[in-house]
Amino acid sequence: MSMTTCPECGKPVSDHAKICPHCGINRLNIDLGTSCSECGGSISNNARVCPHCGANWPVPGDSKQLIILILLLFAFLFILKLLSRYL
Ligand SMILES: [Zn+2]
Ligand SMILES: [Zn+2]
Repeated sequence: MSMTTCPECGKPVSDHAKICPHCGINRLNIDLGTSCSECGGSISNNARVCPHCGANWPVPGDSKQLIILILLLFAFLFILKLLSRYL
């Protein structure tokens, strides 16, 4: 009996097990259409963490930058509004 890793939680699972004993996911139903941008391994669309390299998925860098950008935009609009009151 060979072992493989669960595409959802990354823990070792029996090759013949249809359901992961760790996270309870049905391994046969998992859509492995996404590949990790960090290590390139195939991961489940529902996975939040890459089971191969442990990277957060989706990689949080982009969303963090977007939030900072939106906050800056709001701050800019706020300052503009304040300025227009005194001009
Ligand atoms: Zn699992
Ligand atoms: Zn990875």
